[in-house]
Formats: sequence, C-alpha cells, structure tokens
Amino acid sequence: MITDEDVVVCPVCGHEQTITICPSVNVTTDPEMREKVLTGELFEFSCDECSFAGYAGYPFVYEDKETNGGFLIYLEPDCEDREVGIEGDIADQVIYHERPMRLVADMNALKEKIFIFEAGLDDRVVELFKVLTLAKMRDDDPEKIPDELKFTKRDVVDGEEVLVFTAFRDEELMGTLELPYALYQTCVLTGEPIWDVPITECAAVDSKWILERLGDQDGSDEETV
Ligand SMILES: [Zn+2]
Repeated sequence: MITDEDVVVCPVCGHEQTITICPSVNVTTDPEMREKVLTGELFEFSCDECSFAGYAGYPFVYEDKETNGGFLIYLEPDCEDREVGIEGDIADQVIYHERPMRLVADMNALKEKIFIFEAGLDDRVVELFKVLTLAKMRDDDPEKIPDELKFTKRDVVDGEEVLVFTAFRDEELMGTLELPYALYQTCVLTGEPIWDVPITECAAVDSKWILERLGDQDGSDEETV
C-alpha cells in the first residue's frame, strides 16, 4: 500500500492538520482494502483540535486487475471535468486500454462503479437503464419519484434475476427498487450504436454522459447543458 501526506482543513473549526493518505489501492494485491474503501474507513480523519470526525476528500485511484477482466476508478472530489488522462505507471498498463477506466466526483459514485463492475455489468448500459426507468416513473407520478438511482447489487428474487437500486430524492434515501435483469438486456439492444464508440480516456460515465449520446443518436445537434 502506497501512502502519502496531505493537509486537511477541519470543516468545523478550520484547523489545518497533516494526515496520512492513501492515494491509490490495488485490491488485487491488497484485497482487504476493498472493504476499507466501501465503508469509507480509508478516508476517515478526526480533527486534533475539536475532535470532529469526517471524511477527507483527495484524489484517489481504485484498481481491480482481476474481477471481470479488471477496472480502474479515479475519484477526484468535486471534479468538473468529464475526462482526465491517467499518467505514469498505471497508464502504461495495457490492461486499461481494453478495460473500463472511470472518473467519479464523490464516494457514492465510486462505490456504485465498484458494485457495477463486480456484478459483471456494463456501467454505460446501467446509466441508460436508470435514465429510462426514471423517465418512465416520472410519467406515473412526478411528485413521488426518485431523482437518483444508485446500483447496489444483482440478486435473484422468486426465481427471477433482478438488479437492486437504492433510490434517492433531494439526496434523501427513499428505499430500494428491484428491477428485472431482462430490462437491462433490453437496454443493451436499445443503446446499441452508443456502445461501439470507444472511450479512450478516464471518463465520467453518468446520466449526463448517456443523455448526450442519446441526443446524438436522434440526430439532434442541441447541446445538453
Ligand atoms: Zn476541528
């Protein structure tokens, strides 16, 4: 495990302190790190002055070289960019020219990507799945529908394979949603031309990413804001 030092500012009292951070983990060589990332333990810090406890946000690389062929996720807190180049040793590894490299801006998005790739799913298809599901729900009852879905796991309920999502509205947890895996398979066909375009950089693949590409597919030249 590689460690480094970083200065964090306590959000409560403003005290600055130097903490030891872990800028990258490779769960293939350090499998116990997976849990520490998922629980947030790896990012915890407590203030020496006021004993506030919270999470330190810093750029972080999560690598899994084995599961379903391997994947890499780069967390850059509050990142506004849609694509970044990953430099150095990691970029030289041929594996990531073939496997997903993703950019995320917060820990929940990082966790969701880990769950998606571990479940053997394509995160681009999952984003299409979420966009279509939310659009359909909006038609039913716009007042009571979630505004965000996060994938949690693949499961079997009453003999039927389902994808389980956590639903949020205004960042409040609403509950979980089980949707048939068959709908995911339909999305693979629905979005077909989109999947053929390779993603060369470490990219943010989220609802905005899929909406931009759905727009292109319709031949629309409107810019998605
Ligand atoms: Zn403090």
